[in-house]
Amino acid sequence: MMRTAQWTDVAAKIAKTGATTELSVPASRLTTYRIGGMVALVVTITKAEQALALHACISDEIEVVVVGNGSNILISDDGFDGVAVVLHLGDDDTTMSVVESTEHSALLDARANIRLPMLARRSAALGWHGLEWAVGVPGSLGGAVRMNAGGHGSDMEKSLFDAELINLRSGRTARVAKQNLGLRFRGSAITDEICVVGARCQVTRGNAEQSQKEIAEIVTWRRDNQPGGQNAGSVFVNPAQTTRSAGALIDEAGLRGKRHGSAEISQKHANFIQADENARAADVVALMCEAQDTVFARTGVMMHSEVRLLGFTQEITHRFLDKHHSHLELARAQETLKSLL
Ligand SMILES: Cc1cc2nc3c(=O)[nH]c(=O)nc-3n(C[C@H](O)[C@H](O)[C@H](O)COP(=O)(O)OP(=O)(O)OC[C@H]3O[C@@H](n4cnc5c(N)ncnc54)[C@H](O)[C@@H]3O)c2cc1C
Repeated sequence: MMRTAQWTDVAAKIAKTGATTELSVPASRLTTYRIGGMVALVVTITKAEQALALHACISDEIEVVVVGNGSNILISDDGFDGVAVVLHLGDDDTTMSVVESTEHSALLDARANIRLPMLARRSAALGWHGLEWAVGVPGSLGGAVRMNAGGHGSDMEKSLFDAELINLRSGRTARVAKQNLGLRFRGSAITDEICVVGARCQVTRGNAEQSQKEIAEIVTWRRDNQPGGQNAGSVFVNPAQTTRSAGALIDEAGLRGKRHGSAEISQKHANFIQADENARAADVVALMCEAQDTVFARTGVMMHSEVRLLGFTQEITHRFLDKHHSHLELARAQETLKSLL
């Protein structure tokens, strides 16, 4: 663990790049769970050049992670002793433009910090079809690329054309075609040192009225089927070895509504874990452990976390990793990406 004085030195170095720095930031400000301890240093990037310069300020032993809208992250009660990089590359209103449009199709170029619901609505309003599904995902475009977010029959893999990446450790940058991002169900080969700063999505000529109707239906479906409040969406990835969803497996194990201290498996959707105000992240993790163990004991299916765990022990982090992906195709995809950056 680094001392406060060391963090102050790192922050001062980074501030020279023009990025904004803030020491000891409550994790509750960074994630939709709105819980967790302190994040040692938050760096807000307003220009890509600041991200390119970061590598000279951060030594290898300092952990760095990009935080988008924090809608898929749980930070431990002990906090995160590392750097959280936050992107503010323009406002939502100015972060998307139509490029290379023909009569039938177009590429939408957006900065990574645009929120997916905003991207979906703006694309639809312009009469482009293909991103309507994204209205229900409360993340940023950058987080969605890394997670290969999806829903309602589509996902980033289908919508994406390419992504603009910066390696925060080497200071190298590249525009990478989606085929080289190692996109898989709710994941990719993008590792912590790689920051998505922008992406181009492919859309086809549609009908604004029809797209807006589709968007309204998705919003209604979400309201009817998913809980509001403090959560990070689905906790477990739907397992590949069964047609049963993670939510169905948890429900069938009798855990819907199960409470542990300040957290509860949602009554409305069994793959969501709700946190109370000022809840303990440890209570969320305790429910994750119980769900994983109970489902495995009943069905032999090992569920893996979709939610990124930050600041937890190696034992906890490892418990929820998908080891199959970690060791095989993922490693290969990461090598390809590394060679480009
Ligand atoms: C109510 C609710 C509903 C949800 N529904 C869905 C759904 O239907 N489908 C779905 O797929 N997900 C869903 N999610 C989860 C979440 O919204 C998605 O995973 C989303 O893509 C995460 O984006 P984010 O910006 O919030 O990423 P974060 O939570 O900030 O980060 C997630 C991961 O991406 C990395 N990351 C973030 N930004 C960048 C960047 N610019 N460059 C590189 N890495 C980055 C982080 O380091 C972290 O590892 C839901 C979440 C909630 C709270």
